[in-house]
Amino acid sequence: MKSELRHPLAFVPTMGALHAGHQSLIKIAKQKCEEVVLSVFVNPLQFENKEDLAQYPRNIDGDIALAQSTGATFVWAPTFEEVYPGDPVIIPAGKIGNLFEGVHRFGHFDGVLTVVHRLFELIRPEYAIFGEKDFQQLFLINQMVRELELPVEIISAPIVREDDGLAMSSRNIRLSTDDRARATIIYKALCEANGSKDPARALQRVLSKEKNFQIDYAEIIDANTFEVATVATPNKRAIVAGWLSGVRLIDNMAMEMAMESSGALA
Ligand code: AMP
Repeated sequence: MKSELRHPLAFVPTMGALHAGHQSLIKIAKQKCEEVVLSVFVNPLQFENKEDLAQYPRNIDGDIALAQSTGATFVWAPTFEEVYPGDPVIIPAGKIGNLFEGVHRFGHFDGVLTVVHRLFELIRPEYAIFGEKDFQQLFLINQMVRELELPVEIISAPIVREDDGLAMSSRNIRLSTDDRARATIIYKALCEANGSKDPARALQRVLSKEKNFQIDYAEIIDANTFEVATVATPNKRAIVAGWLSGVRLIDNMAMEMAMESSGALA
């Protein structure tokens, strides 16, 4: 595998069912290197919910066609045994891995870091591209690369959205027509928070209008530490996750326009 690849290369790890969000990562990779490797691997280690794993959308033929037409030079869809020939060496995600997503998906980030670390070992990329869509994941991967001094540069990619603002996701195709319409509440809430003096309250207020959306969390955090933001926090980010009829949706937005209020945000 390693010997077939030409370096320097840029790597785009995915779980497949590719969409325009993934394509944007390939395009960023292509600006860095001629050789762009895209992996498609639905990593069981990061699914604490086996039903969620079983229902995860899969479309490998479509993925190969889309990745190659966008500029990927190598599409790799390994088996579990290729990725983990022995017992996986678990990379613990630490304290921040237990917050937010980690509360609702216990052990999720240990699984994410374990697979990303393993894929880096197998592919040895000079660059790897990750979306801001999974903001906590991006944070933890940057932290892992720093702490383990891995020889790879992490590049982050902005969130790609549908015309009505819904963040693109492989899971969106599982939404019913009604839930697809309801899902726009997330982007509306993020935008409203961004224009508000009290973004935390605005976020909750707008989300609560959609009774079918079951919130896992909706918070304003310090993007540098993942602590809940205070008025003094300069680098605020709104993060939201929840469920619509069994489909889990996640999104976030930098709070660049949010104005400071006199009280604490939380
Ligand atoms: P996934 O296949 O969902 O594991 O995602 C693979 C990569 O694509 C991750 O780095 C995601 O953050 C990124 N990604 C997924 N959806 C989007 C999106 N709408 N915009 C930008 N990047 C995305």
